[in-house]
Amino acid sequence: MIKNISVIGAGTMGNGIAHVFAQSGFTVNLIDSNPTQLHRALATIEKNLDRQIAKAAITEADKKVTLANITTLSDIALGVKDAGLVVEAATENIDSKLTIFKLMDMDAPADCILATNTSSISITKIAAITKRPGQVIGMHFMNPVPVMKLVEIINGYGTKKEVTQTVIELTRQLGKIPCVVNDYPGFIANRILMPMINEAIYSLYEGVANVEAIDTVMKLGMAHPMGPLQLADFIGLDICLSILHVLHDGFGNPKYAPCPLLVNMVMADKLGVKTGEGFYKYIAGSKELVVSERFK
Ligand code: NAD
Repeated sequence: MIKNISVIGAGTMGNGIAHVFAQSGFTVNLIDSNPTQLHRALATIEKNLDRQIAKAAITEADKKVTLANITTLSDIALGVKDAGLVVEAATENIDSKLTIFKLMDMDAPADCILATNTSSISITKIAAITKRPGQVIGMHFMNPVPVMKLVEIINGYGTKKEVTQTVIELTRQLGKIPCVVNDYPGFIANRILMPMINEAIYSLYEGVANVEAIDTVMKLGMAHPMGPLQLADFIGLDICLSILHVLHDGFGNPKYAPCPLLVNMVMADKLGVKTGEGFYKYIAGSKELVVSERFK
């Protein structure tokens, strides 16, 4: 029975992953090379637990137990030495992930499962850097982690069946729903989502409709909670572009070619919510959705 979890990377996803494991009674080592990120992560987890208390979803006592289950550290070797499962959620960069997996492989117990939360990097490629490719798997949580129910579980070429089964069971223990897929570019979530976002950007680029019309058609017509352009802003246009490159390179099919408008927006640093402007303009403290001047 796995009780000790290590999470590497305490950013947007890492703090959420640590939160849900700790809240489900696991002992969590949250590891980040940047100590400021660890402080931020703990503050975010506390704020999100307070939100759950305000909704009467948990009690003050649950919050205390959850926080007590989390230890923060900067040293990967120390942080993974007793782990039954490590979930890597560090920056989406292939070289940095390969370095982390090499380190974890040396320092984690021999039976430890090594999972990655990558959105787009090949699980098989990551597994190949380790001496335990059968114990490497994708565990793709959705943002925001404490809220979203899905975990896309990605089998690498050599992932062992019993490893997949253990990860399915752990996902269920978090109260989340596992979906098992195979390791091909974009897996399932991004293989289907990113072409839709790209097509929405092409529709804008070609002048078929404006930002509001495109998002409204998809919200009201398809019952999507958020239009594709707003969703792209939320994910980050740089991330969308890099996933489209993975699909384009991986399949060699021109249907995945990123829209030139998306490429331009990334070069202009209009990345969406995180830079304050994408298809919409984001004003601190305001929840109103305002279309960017550029698209009026
Ligand atoms: P982020 O930039 O918010 O956080 C990454 C963290 O990793 C940072 O705190 C950084 O200091 C840390 N880090 C980088 N190199 C490290 C190292 N060598 N050792 C320890 N810590 C290190 O990124 P994020 O948005 O949380 O994304 C993390 C992973 O999750 C990526 O693989 C991404 O593709 C994936 N993902 C992101 C989302 C999303 O919506 N943001 C959704 C699903 C999956």
